[in-house]
Amino acid sequence: MPKNSKIQEAVKLATEAHDGQLRKTGEPYIVHPLAVKKILEEWNMDDDTIIAGILHDTVEDTDVTLKDIEEQFGHDVAFLVDGVTKLGKARSGMKNLDSYLPETSDNLLKLLIATGQDVRVLIIKLADRLHNLRTLSALPPDKQKKIARESLDVFAPLADRLQMGRVRVEIEETSFRYLDPKRYEELKKLTEERLKRADKKLKNAQQAVENLLKREHIKYKCDGRVKSIYSLHKKLAKYDQNIDRVYDLIALRFIVEDVTTCYLTLGLIHSLFRPMEGRVKDYIAMPKQNGYQSIHTTVITPDKQVVEFQIRTQEMHDYAERGLAATFFYNEQKLTSAYTEGRISKLPSHLLWIKELQETAAKLASGEKVDTKKLKLTLFADKIFVYTPKGDIIDLPKDSMPLDFAYRLHSEIGATCTGAIVNGKMVSLNTKLHNGDIVEIVTTKNSKPNPGWLDKVGSKHARHKLLSQLHSLFPNFAANPDPPEKKEKKK
Ligand code: MN
Repeated sequence: MPKNSKIQEAVKLATEAHDGQLRKTGEPYIVHPLAVKKILEEWNMDDDTIIAGILHDTVEDTDVTLKDIEEQFGHDVAFLVDGVTKLGKARSGMKNLDSYLPETSDNLLKLLIATGQDVRVLIIKLADRLHNLRTLSALPPDKQKKIARESLDVFAPLADRLQMGRVRVEIEETSFRYLDPKRYEELKKLTEERLKRADKKLKNAQQAVENLLKREHIKYKCDGRVKSIYSLHKKLAKYDQNIDRVYDLIALRFIVEDVTTCYLTLGLIHSLFRPMEGRVKDYIAMPKQNGYQSIHTTVITPDKQVVEFQIRTQEMHDYAERGLAATFFYNEQKLTSAYTEGRISKLPSHLLWIKELQETAAKLASGEKVDTKKLKLTLFADKIFVYTPKGDIIDLPKDSMPLDFAYRLHSEIGATCTGAIVNGKMVSLNTKLHNGDIVEIVTTKNSKPNPGWLDKVGSKHARHKLLSQLHSLFPNFAANPDPPEKKEKKK
């Protein structure tokens, strides 16, 4: 049977299986798997992934079994559906994966193992999360915030690691809009004003470059890019909220035929406009950690407008926007020929960590010992994952201590904390937590926080909670709201 009718078969099975179920939006449940199907088709995923996307909630929520799926659609589809189901459980306590790797109690590791064998599981999960975010308005506000937070903390970095830039931006923008609607609107307005003011000068700059490229017979495509609201929010925090220091608010992007033409185009742009010192970034020769490739340069035009130019090839552009999904589109051979013909300067390095992950998964499965610390660092470099005694996963910024954990659970647990037990041992409150620690907080009723705790919190979240408690306890209390090491950067 041709694959395409397999897709129709999957739609039929899912429609029947979910019959009678409703989403929180009030629509029939099948709307969700069909939306996931559409997203995966837009990403040019293979048929097995699309079929698994259609069926991704059937095993968890309906009478359909993995065996049914394997019989009708084959082993690969069943494996993918199983992976997505397990990943869902993994996020919420993970008790069901024990058969997978009985000798380790490390939930995050299991999560990676469960998915690492086939990265398409992660891609389906991202499509699932993307649609859930797009329809988040149907949920009550507290749930909206919880899902938005998790999306920002886990799924956006995941999309980034898979180099799916467009997906990362959509996840960040939507999540941020739910987490901080006021700030979101504020920054949106600010960006629009800036854009309007710069419009004419930008057009002049673009025209000048286009004229020169035409004269040199260089084929190009040009589009403008406005920085996403969430990345602007992050950048403003770095620059004292001074938007004039954000040079890449507006960028003009030129897509040209090959790597050589990228450098030629850079030279032509610099012949027109004065480049700003230290603002030329060659991510073609030195790709970003996630494999991103492009040349960036910030220039000042004769109209005194600061503009960032981004120059890249079509392949680089596709990888930047669609990342790992693009590799399913550019099959291996095409990739290799693009490499040898110099259209991309090296094989995308963002594939390497996945390869590593899968090799590690295979090693673990065959009982070999592996360095699990290294594995975790690759995926979530700036986070640690610790557990409550019940096995719930709590993610914290690197360098967090027990009070960070306590405040994350609840501000009252933070306020009344009198001790911490890590991996069964009583520890002092300035003990750094590590990946995989099991943390228990000892509280005493009516106990109060004290100013000395400011040295014992590492996360912004806990610091802010603690400060507001200290302010209400001690009306004369004054402290810089930022951690001490950042103090001198402030005016
Ligand atoms: Mn789903």
